[in-house]
Amino acid sequence: ALRLAAQSRAVDEVLAPLRLSRADLEKVQALMRQEMDRGLCKETNPTASVRMLPTYVTHTPDGTERGDFLALDLGGTNFRVLVVRVTEEGITMASEIYVIPATIMQGTGEALFDHILDCIIDFQMKQNLVTQMLPLGFTFSFPCQQVGLDKALLLTWTKGFSASGCVGKDVVQLLRDAAKRKQHLGMQVVALVNDTVGTMMACGYDDPKCEIGLIVGTGTNACYMEEMKNVGTVEGDQGRMCINMEWGAFGDNGCLDHLFTQFDKVVDETTINPGKQRFEKLISGMYLGEIVRQILMAMVEKQLLFKGRPCPKLQTRNIFQTKFLSTIELNGLALRQIRAILNELELDASFEDSVLMREVCQAVSLRAAQLCAAGLAAVVEKMRESRGLDQLSVTVGVDGTLYKLHPCFSDNLQKTLKDLAPKCNVTFLLSEDGSGKGAALVAAVADRAA
Ligand code: ADP
Repeated sequence: ALRLAAQSRAVDEVLAPLRLSRADLEKVQALMRQEMDRGLCKETNPTASVRMLPTYVTHTPDGTERGDFLALDLGGTNFRVLVVRVTEEGITMASEIYVIPATIMQGTGEALFDHILDCIIDFQMKQNLVTQMLPLGFTFSFPCQQVGLDKALLLTWTKGFSASGCVGKDVVQLLRDAAKRKQHLGMQVVALVNDTVGTMMACGYDDPKCEIGLIVGTGTNACYMEEMKNVGTVEGDQGRMCINMEWGAFGDNGCLDHLFTQFDKVVDETTINPGKQRFEKLISGMYLGEIVRQILMAMVEKQLLFKGRPCPKLQTRNIFQTKFLSTIELNGLALRQIRAILNELELDASFEDSVLMREVCQAVSLRAAQLCAAGLAAVVEKMRESRGLDQLSVTVGVDGTLYKLHPCFSDNLQKTLKDLAPKCNVTFLLSEDGSGKGAALVAAVADRAA
């Protein structure tokens, strides 16, 4: 029993830096709020870690939108072309997935957009949509400096794309140029949409209170409806505009350094963008498995796991997938499944090892959910304040596999948010097929407003 007590003290010591107090979270919330304000102000924007990009989306759906729209979804796992029909009865969609070969992703911009046009033309033929000129919404999930609803300069490629001659260019114009080259008259590009905005709009069609979009998948990001009078980076004071926060970069100016553990630092240093996307690296699916792996290696080293036997397999990057956290944290069957995962790692794990492993996963995913909640608390409190309300009732449209499939992430997020923003009544709505539907709705709402 004495040895067990010593062991559990040693475990607590390893995990202590990951456990955030209420005061820690309040500080994160305050820092996020400060960075939001700095990002919205024209003078301080260039040095803010959240970019607070204007999207030129000024209204969420009100249910009166009608029409047939084309939508493109580029920048997620697949490239898709969709037709979205918005009628009195609701929304119906048909879509097709197209492959973009690596040679085209990394070739010339002209070849990339020609390929996209070929896919659109093929799709319109198959769907018998060749005789009409359809408005098109383009979900383009790469960072863009938007200067209008249909004008957005690509800041940088990510996710394996590197097509030449695109960075700094207006992506909508590149698509229109390709249509011209192909003499294709069947579409009219009306909007370029970030995936967070698409998620908010798709959920906004079902719930008019949805004025926030949240993604917790490979990465994390959020958008929300801000008062125009607070948006110093765009002319005009009337109404609202959706702001793409690019909150994954929160902390890139060092303001979150005090939260980074030795494990987080190692994970950051081994990415292709060290020092960048600091907030995202504590929260999203691309990193949580890696953080757990670092902790497990430290515990093996301290002889707290596997009876002190070395575990060479754990040295392999990405061997501990984020979906393992979901399996391991699930109750009931879990202990047996934990052993199955451990066996895959060629480990002979005892019951105690499984319990410890679950504790590690819980610490990492709880921290992620709490940090996400602190960020959201800053958003909803800012919205409540700017609207002069004692109580704000708002809905968050959410997408992303980590949020959707992890057994505790959403509960922990919602519980922490309630605690940090008690004056806000926040509902979460899962987005179904948000990026395609959302892009069409942005086009539809622009059409309605015009
Ligand atoms: P994207 O954000 O690129 O659109 P997804 O929303 O599908 O993609 O998220 C992919 C991320 O989700 C990956 O980082 C992966 O590790 C993580 N993931 C996949 N399955 C699970 C799961 N069962 N539980 C938690 N995370 C998962």
